[in-house]
Amino acid sequence: MTSAAHPPAFQLKFWGVRGSIPAPGPTTVRYGGNTTCIDVRCGDMRLAIDGGTGARAFGDELARTGNPVDLTFLMTHLHLDHVQGFPFFAPFLMPGHRLRIYSALHNHAGVEDVLRQLLAQPAFPISMEELRADISFLRLTPGDTLRFGDVTVKTASLHHPGGVVGYRFEFDGRVYAHCSDWEHPADGSLDPAIIELIRGADLCSIDSTYTEDEYNGVRGPSRRGWGHATHEAALRHSDAAGVKRLLLFHHEPARTDDDLDAIAARLLVGRDDVTIVREGMQVDV
Ligand SMILES: [Zn+2]
Ligand SMILES: [Zn+2]
Repeated sequence: MTSAAHPPAFQLKFWGVRGSIPAPGPTTVRYGGNTTCIDVRCGDMRLAIDGGTGARAFGDELARTGNPVDLTFLMTHLHLDHVQGFPFFAPFLMPGHRLRIYSALHNHAGVEDVLRQLLAQPAFPISMEELRADISFLRLTPGDTLRFGDVTVKTASLHHPGGVVGYRFEFDGRVYAHCSDWEHPADGSLDPAIIELIRGADLCSIDSTYTEDEYNGVRGPSRRGWGHATHEAALRHSDAAGVKRLLLFHHEPARTDDDLDAIAARLLVGRDDVTIVREGMQVDV
């Protein structure tokens, strides 16, 4: 039973915050090297976003409790950094756990097709048929509204090579929006699709892969068209949409802890509403 004094938990845990490829090592210990996986708790409802390498530790923690796992994954898309942890997600291997995985079609494939390729000889010794959990694969079309108990999840198609799904979780009068792997318009204008999805959110995590110099080719090749946003673009869209708290997410793999601190010092002075998200961080919506 809940009351106004004790609202139901709406809490995130970021098991992986890195983009593109895991980046472990001494220069990334503070922000973390695992790729994207987020645990989204809405009261008793347990949802998760993506199965990057952060899913290994997430699955180990779920398995350690000994309780049956009942969990729904929502896939943003099927690029390797968002599925790479699934072969090591322990609950898949154990009977008694129920997992549902929603994905849109990307290049005519769903998450089950990608898992079938990952879980196959000679790349991996365990096949899909050997997974013991009760796993169902479900299709969504961007634009769908999904309902899980008292949780409403709105979805939208965002700009990324091969397509990506942005999510807006609405629960107990609060809103969390997640926009991973999204590229802003290169001309500096606002992208109406993301603005509509994140409008007025209490909390929002947005792709912030590149610096402006990287994006524009001042340092290295131009990253225009590679499907990711700059920190400045994430801030610009978040501010325009009236987001209350912003988490910069999907860090470039070569970005060190010191680099991320320098970005905070350059862009976020006086911005208590913006945080560069770290692996292991728990955030209340
Ligand atoms: Zn990614
Ligand atoms: Zn991607």
